[in-house]
Amino acid sequence: MKKSPVKIKELEASERIKGFEEVVLGYNEEEAALEASRCLQCKNPTCIEGCPVGIDIKTFIYQITQKDYRGAYLTIRQKNNFPSLCGRVCPAEYQCRRACVLTKKGSPYASEQAINIHFLERFIGDYGIKEGIEVGSQDEARFSKMKIAVVGSGPAGLCCAGELARKGVKVVIFEGLHQSGGVLRYGIPPLRLPRDILDVEINYLEKLGVKIIPNFIIGKTKTLDDLLKDGYRAVFLGLGAGIPSFLKVPGENLCNIYSANEFLTRVNLMQAYKFPRFHTPVSIGKHIIIIGGGNTAMDSARVALRLQKMNGIQPDTTIVYRRTEIEMPARRLEIEHAKEEGIKFKFLVKPLEFIGDESGFVSKMRLLECELAEPDESGRRRPVDIPGSDFAISCDMAVIAVGLQANQILTKVTPQLKTDKYGDVVVDPDTMETSIKGVFAGGDIVGGEGTVIEAMGMSKKAACAMLDYVVRQ
Ligand code: FAD
Ligand code: SF4
Repeated sequence: MKKSPVKIKELEASERIKGFEEVVLGYNEEEAALEASRCLQCKNPTCIEGCPVGIDIKTFIYQITQKDYRGAYLTIRQKNNFPSLCGRVCPAEYQCRRACVLTKKGSPYASEQAINIHFLERFIGDYGIKEGIEVGSQDEARFSKMKIAVVGSGPAGLCCAGELARKGVKVVIFEGLHQSGGVLRYGIPPLRLPRDILDVEINYLEKLGVKIIPNFIIGKTKTLDDLLKDGYRAVFLGLGAGIPSFLKVPGENLCNIYSANEFLTRVNLMQAYKFPRFHTPVSIGKHIIIIGGGNTAMDSARVALRLQKMNGIQPDTTIVYRRTEIEMPARRLEIEHAKEEGIKFKFLVKPLEFIGDESGFVSKMRLLECELAEPDESGRRRPVDIPGSDFAISCDMAVIAVGLQANQILTKVTPQLKTDKYGDVVVDPDTMETSIKGVFAGGDIVGGEGTVIEAMGMSKKAACAMLDYVVRQ
């Protein structure tokens, strides 16, 4: 008889919107064993092809069925440095779970029946942390006197640093912000990724000897050339895509309109929800509109609704999106959670303008209805305007979450570093080396906004090529 997927435990919606507690509670041993027992142990495990870093999913699931959790942890760690992080944030429904044979052919994302690979990965990642399992360093004497610099401490930088440090290289990470983690710290809220998990992973790197220097912007505090002159044998750039895109509609500069980056950074990094105990304030509207359909929009909406609740405001947060739910790039789980929490959705509408009051604060937003036409180059059906269908809604705060672009602080002052028309760094796809000898790059600064696991995949490849490069010099 077909076994049903094991449901994951979650905090009740009415409880969780009172704060930033983690929503998904994870499997216990019994639940993990039951879910793992549903895996068919396929001869041709298609799930592995769906994983951007090629984790041996079939083997680690088998090891769970045998209660060999240590073995499962080591299996995952061969390909993924941060299973606890990825088990929480990977869009598995578009990756390994979608490729699982239990997903119906042609589905745009994983079927419910597909094995919950990400929850099993999280179970094992958390086990590894709880048990303090360390993946041994393979210090090699030939690397021990070498120094390599990593710029940026997001998943790309952290993963690259870990790979190099485990070989005995002295790694220094330069981070522009006062805390490390990149989007994992300032973007993704603790309700999806508790900070103690992130801290454990970063502390582990520090134990390996990685030095993290915060408040240090390469391109301003020092240049790339300075680093090379300072004796770093190679440099990895994990600069991310930290610059927000805007709608370019009238009224966008009115007060109380935030980019998602600013809004989430104020709340997650600067802890604005504890103002005035923490110095950064954030506005909280009565009618909040979030524009966009990705993870950033979902995170912004869920944070905004919690701020309303925590401040005694009747929650009224609406996501507006120009396509329909099926085309939304956000993780399906986040969409479901947002709905359960009371976030409203308006599909097939596009922003036309923001209207302000006499003091310059946004008070309304005008939208135009759309319908879907043939798919565009992204493969998703293209929204087209319905003339004359415009209407206005109340909006005293808005968050714009319509995409991110390359962070260009460093690239702008380094003309010899080749970039493409989007400002992304151009690399050799086999080695991740840039146009400057000895300088490598990976993560969102290469090819634009991606995922955590893709960033890690690129940086692992770069680390390998960097080791090869430094011994050849
Ligand atoms: P980042 O995480 O952006 O890190 C770059 C770091 O470099 C930053 O700390 C920055 O301060 C630093 N930096 C930049 N320039 C300099 C400089 N010149 N000098 C020194 N430091 C510098 N992906 C998923 O897989 N699942 C999700 O659920 C998910 N949710 C997301 C939610 C939000 C709100 C956002 C914004 C993104 C989300 N993503 C998600 C995407 C994912 O977070 C990114 O793909 C990933 O973080 C990219 O990693 P990175 O290391 O390249 O860049
Ligand atoms: Fe097969 Fe899915 Fe198990 Fe992978 S996870 S081995 S595709 S049943």
